[in-house]
Amino acid sequence: MSLTILGAPTLIGIPFDGQSSFLRGAGEAPGKIREALGCDASNSWTELGVDLGVAGVYEDAGDLKFTEQDAFEAIESGVGGLIDRGKRPVSLGGDHSITFPIVKAVARRHAELTIFHFDAHPDLYDEFEGNRWSHACPFARIMEAGLAKRLVQVGIRTMNRHQREQAARFGVEVVEMRGLPAYAKLKAAGPVYITFDMDVLDPAFAPGISHREPGGMSVREAIAHLHAIEGKIVGADVVEYNPVRDVAGITAMVTAKMVKEILGKMIVG
Ligand code: MN
Ligand code: MN
Repeated sequence: MSLTILGAPTLIGIPFDGQSSFLRGAGEAPGKIREALGCDASNSWTELGVDLGVAGVYEDAGDLKFTEQDAFEAIESGVGGLIDRGKRPVSLGGDHSITFPIVKAVARRHAELTIFHFDAHPDLYDEFEGNRWSHACPFARIMEAGLAKRLVQVGIRTMNRHQREQAARFGVEVVEMRGLPAYAKLKAAGPVYITFDMDVLDPAFAPGISHREPGGMSVREAIAHLHAIEGKIVGADVVEYNPVRDVAGITAMVTAKMVKEILGKMIVG
């Protein structure tokens, strides 16, 4: 196992659900994910052979603090500050709107970014119900601002005409759920950012989300795709876990498992 020379992956909680269009609750996720990550029901090893229990292998910067009004500025400067201190941010959401300010911070420090986006939804609306900052819009904002060289979306199963037009306009590489597996698409020459919306998983595996969209990935398919990524991973986020909608803590454990495998992947490359 060759440990990477990149900075330590560092958890940062972003308890924000102020741009959720349907249900609140994702703002309560970070603490629940940490709890599940440390739960004695499992051990600290990832499937790629990394022991996350070894001190220093990853770090935790705690939760960001902000008000609903200054959330995006606080997220951008908080995540940017982590990168400036030599860390690789692994943000625990929160709704998916947070990925725009996060990617702003990441892209400013890593040019030619490739984003691997796991989601049931393309989140490419120009505006949603009159709101350009909605969790249905972050990838329209990211692509308009030229923050990514490539955006690869995997697991999509809610394409409509408007978002298909947006994907074409921005040159988004979309692998819909029915077109899986997408392993060949998950290779990048430059820096890679992973954004993982928990609703990419079938709601049978992860019911604790706001927008349950049947026909999604199994946990195993998601892990196989994460493991297939080739590139220098400079940051990641796991978003849209909604504890209010969870059933017997199942989704907390599944979210923690995704975080674990992403951390392991960032460490072994
Ligand atoms: Mn999303
Ligand atoms: Mn989604």
